[in-house]
Amino acid sequence: MDKTNFLFTFTSVHEMEKKKYDMLIIGTGAGGGASIWRLCQKWKNRNKQIGVIEAGDIILPAHVKDVKNGREKKHFQNIAKPYGEGFLQFSGSRQLFALGGRTLFWSTVSPRFHNSEFTNWPISIKEMDTYYQIAEKKLHVTRDAFMSTDSHLTLQNLGIDEVRNTPRAVLNVQKNFFKHYSSLILLNEAYLQKKFDIAINSRVVKVLIDDNQTIGVQVMTVDDKTVVIRSKNIILATGALETPRILLQSCINGNAIGRYLTNHSSVAAQIRCNHKAAKPFQTRLLIPQTTTRPYQLQLFISNRFISITGFGKVEPRIENRVYIDPQHTDEWGISKIKVDFSYSPQDYNIINQMKKTIEEIVSALDKSISKEESAFSISLKPPGDDYHESSTCRMGLNPSTSVTNPFGKVYGISGLYIADNSILPSTGAANPVLTTVALAMRNVDHFVNIYEKNKR
Ligand SMILES: Cc1cc2nc3c(=O)[nH]c(=O)nc-3n(C[C@H](O)[C@H](O)[C@H](O)COP(=O)(O)OP(=O)(O)OC[C@H]3O[C@@H](n4cnc5c(N)ncnc54)[C@H](O)[C@@H]3O)c2cc1C
Repeated sequence: MDKTNFLFTFTSVHEMEKKKYDMLIIGTGAGGGASIWRLCQKWKNRNKQIGVIEAGDIILPAHVKDVKNGREKKHFQNIAKPYGEGFLQFSGSRQLFALGGRTLFWSTVSPRFHNSEFTNWPISIKEMDTYYQIAEKKLHVTRDAFMSTDSHLTLQNLGIDEVRNTPRAVLNVQKNFFKHYSSLILLNEAYLQKKFDIAINSRVVKVLIDDNQTIGVQVMTVDDKTVVIRSKNIILATGALETPRILLQSCINGNAIGRYLTNHSSVAAQIRCNHKAAKPFQTRLLIPQTTTRPYQLQLFISNRFISITGFGKVEPRIENRVYIDPQHTDEWGISKIKVDFSYSPQDYNIINQMKKTIEEIVSALDKSISKEESAFSISLKPPGDDYHESSTCRMGLNPSTSVTNPFGKVYGISGLYIADNSILPSTGAANPVLTTVALAMRNVDHFVNIYEKNKR
């Protein structure tokens, strides 16, 4: 694989074993990439050692859309593995180990969470606003990348005033050429500010703890070697399914570890049409969650077809959980994980509201599209197929119903932090990356402030 896109060089965990780090960051996806970038910015003039450990290999040198033709979801499904039999109730989800994590494949849709979500969060809307602004700037979030059409008007006639161009994390480099954001971009930018060590193909199995203080991690290499890397501070950013696995493997206690698993119930509708337009067009629109509409709709409209994807809010419930199964191990010899998951009556109510709105939109658009033929299908996707799984190590004020404090620090363990989708207390109906990135940056700022204070 071409490494020329990377400004940094890779090291081995055997080299890292000889050092002691001030911070180890595990995972390089949405939360990991943002944490690395922010910490390198904060510590650029400080004599601190930062290490990064990634289970995956370099599978792409940039976001898939910038290096391959075709749809990102298809590419993702070809590469990522289903979790198998322990995941029958969450069968849409996939495991991916890769430098850059799932930001290599995401569709870059980057809305903020609806304000009502923050009512039960341990963070104010004002503080989130500050970090949303930083994250939107860093991810190049724009509403102007794709042109809109008159379908705005049709949707407004339906009483849907909030329809807008989709916020996307893309850099409009030249007309009609987009550079899609992936955390590889942030890793390069981080390295320009401060050098860090990074090892790939190295999977963290456990966090090592002595007297409730983090002392390092146990890592397994692809050639089956076990290595210990030392650090008093660790940020786990391995995703909402893998992070609880690491905590549980490390025998860390906590009632909420792996619990409150949420996703978005996902409804997809496709309409083939043959629109007699003067020239081909495409547009992407977003209908966000509102106080009365607990779901979000993403519309892709072209002269050939219309596709609508709905994401419904899912209640965080204690019985929806990921847990380890010590009787069965995966190909690395690590305990497999299993999921218990179902939608509640309230979740189904939202799914039905979402389907009804989609049908109304289709019939409104139908009138505005002069077509020769059309076919319409609408389906509820299997749980996990949205790839937005979250909340399995949620932040909160109460250690018996949450895993981390309001700054992502694991309750009861000094020096252990989490920075991926798993800390989101809820996700409403909006795609999670922008919020995970904003929180990762905020929590690094808090960590650095406390660290500096304690050193004084
Ligand atoms: C096709 C597709 C389209 C999507 N579109 C959107 C979208 O438009 N908008 C949006 O907001 N979200 C979207 N998502 C979802 C989004 O990509 C994820 O929600 C997000 O990347 C999760 O971030 P994370 O940091 O929790 O995990 P990830 O990004 O998955 O990162 C986890 C990292 O940890 C590494 N890792 C895992 N286990 C270990 C271990 N034991 N040791 C070391 N490293 C480990 C992984 O290799 C990876 O680098 C999409 C996802 C897909 C697949």
